Amino acid sequence: MAKQQALHCSFCGRNRDEVKILIAGQDGHICENCVEHAQEIIMQEIVPNAESKQPASSSQYKLTIKKPIEIKKFLDEYVIGQDEAKKILAVAVYNHYKRLNQKADNEVEIEKSNIIMVGETGTGKTLLAKSVARMLNVPFAIVDATVFTEAGYVGEDVESMLTRLLQACNYDVAAAEKGIVFIDEIDKIARKSDNPSITRDVSGEGVQQGLLKLLEGAEVLVPPQGGRKHPEQKLVKVNTQNILFICGGAFNGIDRIIGRRVNTNAIGFNVNKEMQEYQLNNLLQFVNSVDIKDFGIIPELLGRLPVITYLNPLDASTLRSILTEPKNSLVKQFTRLFEIEGIALKFEPEVLDFMVEKALEYKLGARGLRSICESILTDAMYELPSQKVKQFDVTIEYAMRKFSNSKLSLLKVA
Ligand code: ADP
Repeated sequence: MAKQQALHCSFCGRNRDEVKILIAGQDGHICENCVEHAQEIIMQEIVPNAESKQPASSSQYKLTIKKPIEIKKFLDEYVIGQDEAKKILAVAVYNHYKRLNQKADNEVEIEKSNIIMVGETGTGKTLLAKSVARMLNVPFAIVDATVFTEAGYVGEDVESMLTRLLQACNYDVAAAEKGIVFIDEIDKIARKSDNPSITRDVSGEGVQQGLLKLLEGAEVLVPPQGGRKHPEQKLVKVNTQNILFICGGAFNGIDRIIGRRVNTNAIGFNVNKEMQEYQLNNLLQFVNSVDIKDFGIIPELLGRLPVITYLNPLDASTLRSILTEPKNSLVKQFTRLFEIEGIALKFEPEVLDFMVEKALEYKLGARGLRSICESILTDAMYELPSQKVKQFDVTIEYAMRKFSNSKLSLLKVA
């Protein structure tokens, strides 16, 4: 009884009946008031540290910079074709990180080499950016430009793209400040008309304006949980000076803009007819900042995206290589999945051609290869683990039968 009355908080000395909760430790107790107080102290001590330039965890990210040729070689392991884009990206990334390491007292200030990539959806823009980040061992975030709106409107503030970057590296601010952000669908925030006085569309041009500061390099207050800034949320300060922004977009219709310019400039004048035809069918290779401006990206934003490159549409032979060649190609991934089950998976070469043919026919691109592959293999992946099978050969007859029974085959040919 006497022992019961002696119970008190070992921190503030309050007795058991003066507090709501008393938590027992090995040699003492703590009341709810002291827990709250301790929590406040922790927040004051630890959170400012999280914002400081060198958090303890930054060692996980050791930036590995390679020479442009090596960067391209690395990209070759994951991305098929797109040699021009790889080369331009390799140089831009190399220069960006060279700039990052230069001494502050240098007279010549090297500008940031943020990049814009133009190419149909599913041609490897995201894959390229992701692979670069993987090679450099820096935090990487993919954001969609369409979710952002001008401050004050419904949607996310542009600053929240840095939230993703912080989340990707577990709030290691120093690492995030050297990271890469891939802004997808940048073309969707193009201004609707090239004449700035006619339109004032909040979703497009307003967001472009919002991006300027971020892309150029500034100290930005970022809501750590994303969404809109609100007064209760403690904001984290992130400097975007050394963050590399890579923007991607399909820019549907830009070929017409390029075509108009190219025709008037008579590009291809000195080449034979065949070459001229090829060039006219592949106008994207001539894309420049004027075309992108004409598409509706404001000049100020373009000024902060000095490197422009393009990606080729994927033809049958590229799609065929995508199936087997990359380090983590679909065929390698599925083979591994079966291998774990103790089953040797083999595809007849015709099956791979068939998958490519269907991806082109249904205009599914490289992304569609996975769904086609799954439509063919799902039944096998469902049934075989319960059977004692050591080998599974996917024949063309089997593939055609499974594909025609799948929902994919019901898609209308585009
Ligand atoms: P985008 O960003 O251009 O819309 P992605 O990079 O997201 O396209 O590509 C979608 C998927 O298609 C990738 O995950 C990858 O599996 C495949 N893919 C696309 N292009 C290539 C390529 N050139 N090389 C290898 N895989 C590719």
